[in-house]
Amino acid sequence: MYFLKLIKHFLFLVTFCSLLALSGCSTAVLSDEHLAKRSKSQFSQMKKSEQISRNASHQAMIERIGRRIAGVAQVDIPGTEWEFVVFDKSEPNAFAMPGGKVGVNSGLITLANGNEDEVAAVIGHEIAHVAFRHSNKRMSQAMGIALGGVILNTAMRNKSSTDRTLATGAYGVGTTVGMALPFSRSQEREADHRGLFYAAMAGYDPRGAISFWKKMQGGKKRKMPQFLSTHPNPGNRIDFLEQNMDHALSLYREAKLARGEKPNP
Ligand SMILES: [Zn+2]
Repeated sequence: MYFLKLIKHFLFLVTFCSLLALSGCSTAVLSDEHLAKRSKSQFSQMKKSEQISRNASHQAMIERIGRRIAGVAQVDIPGTEWEFVVFDKSEPNAFAMPGGKVGVNSGLITLANGNEDEVAAVIGHEIAHVAFRHSNKRMSQAMGIALGGVILNTAMRNKSSTDRTLATGAYGVGTTVGMALPFSRSQEREADHRGLFYAAMAGYDPRGAISFWKKMQGGKKRKMPQFLSTHPNPGNRIDFLEQNMDHALSLYREAKLARGEKPNP
């Protein structure tokens, strides 16, 4: 039985994790290698089932920005096989899967009005999620809470169907890695923080993050953008970015000069 084997395999870590669950266990206990492999096959499946953008300049832009930021992030996640794809979808959304598979919807590029600094803010944020192994931590946490409950109650059949779904779903075969569970607010904050610096160090104006999130907030009043369903707003996100802006701007100016380019005033 796959599931029983799974319980046995993670018994120790999960018990440990469930003890910490109340205080918000954020340990990644799943195999990074396995998650990356699963992401890879799910991403290639997605490229067949979803419409890929035929806009060559959008595709080239995402590739260019992605490579530059991944180059900066390389020190945190060496050896990642990055892949950047634009999907032809109108919702302003983007996602990153473990192992470095990044998808950006054409609607997000439209919302950014083609402004590369704004798009770079989002890609920096996504790459930061990968660097922090946030999907792994989130899935580990869901399993810890659900299976922790199982262990305390000794029998799975006594658990509610929601818990069972959560336990099996977090690691189950059909789950899309990194997209089934929304990130936590503290993970969002981490991704905002590091993503801001990644983009700046790659030579993108970090003020693009502020203008982009302002546009997203404007959209929220009409209808919650899909982006926020998997990337919840940690609250005062813009204030937080502004608090880090001086540092980010100095990194940006340094990066621009190193590239032999003139920074924005
Ligand atoms: Zn996020």
